[in-house]
Amino acid sequence: MIVGIVGAGQLARMLALSGIASGQRFVFLDPAPDACAAPLGDHLCGAYDDPALLDRLAERTDAVTFEFENVPENSIEFLSGKVAAYPGVRALATARDRLREKTLFLELGIPTPAFAAVDSLKQLRRAVRDIRLPAVLKTCTLGYDGKGQYLLRKNGDLERAWERLGGVPLVLESFVNFDREVSIIAVRSRNGETAFYPLSENVHRDGILRTARSRPGDPFEQQARSYAERLLHELDYVGVMALELFQTGDKLLANEMAPRVHNTGHWTIEGAETSQFENHLRAILGLPLGGTAATGHSAMINLISELPDPAGILALPGTHLHCYAKMPRPGRKLGHVTVLAHNEHVLQVGIDQLSLLIE
Ligand code: AMP
Repeated sequence: MIVGIVGAGQLARMLALSGIASGQRFVFLDPAPDACAAPLGDHLCGAYDDPALLDRLAERTDAVTFEFENVPENSIEFLSGKVAAYPGVRALATARDRLREKTLFLELGIPTPAFAAVDSLKQLRRAVRDIRLPAVLKTCTLGYDGKGQYLLRKNGDLERAWERLGGVPLVLESFVNFDREVSIIAVRSRNGETAFYPLSENVHRDGILRTARSRPGDPFEQQARSYAERLLHELDYVGVMALELFQTGDKLLANEMAPRVHNTGHWTIEGAETSQFENHLRAILGLPLGGTAATGHSAMINLISELPDPAGILALPGTHLHCYAKMPRPGRKLGHVTVLAHNEHVLQVGIDQLSLLIE
């Protein structure tokens, strides 16, 4: 079967690496001539909204998916009229706009940090009176890895934040003094079958994910599953979805959802019965889903800005190195390492040793 992917970055690359093993072929649409997934399939090099290229993508494939949520909605709408395109337009439209996303969370009874829409400095002042400081001002669309965000600590920060971000639709949300960040990776097939991976516990620094570790048997798993299940059902979702949450005390608050395979699920490549990439492909191609149980204890550590010496990494027990073949640039995700262990203690030692090598 031939799969089309809008975007040819590292997520598309890992999807293709997984699918090629079971005989699938790939066609990518991406404007970057050196996109890192391109060597793994046919590359339609051009804009995400080029109708001629979208036509070719649809004609040449059995199903189409996308690797990031900033794809123009119209492109997926257009593709949906010609080929099976998953997850659908509604999932994309919801996930690419923080205000829509949080509104849907509330409609489905999924708790979120308090939030308010902000379109002017006056509205920002009013929202700060309601929500109180500290609070985070975020652009509704096109934010990623902490970009398009401003942390407001005191009233004097409001004008600077407005100058920095104003002019596009914004959302103000209360700053959550969380105990930890977690995410759940969920998958739903074309016939409505669902499966959930164990919770992932995540650490971000400067808005960028640094580590994600599997937490099989986590006491918050059921709560997270229930929230993800509501979203899958409501959106008639097909494919893998990630839901990122803050844990505060005995509660989970939803931060955001991603309508795609997700960085906090990379540990599933070696650490689960079936990886998130394989299950996404199985789902969109109408194949039975694979098991999602963890096969042990595992963690993923992102390689950001530069790649360390591979021999040093691989000398540590239980490590697997993934490089995305991208040019190094400050703040850019260039690869990741998975570390596997048979218990939590050994895993922590592995994470500490890796962190020393990488930082
Ligand atoms: P986001 O792009 O919304 O996922 O934000 C990136 C990271 O910034 C999150 O994973 C958190 O570490 C932090 N962050 C975002 N929003 C909040 C918030 N309301 N309270 C506390 N930390 C936040």
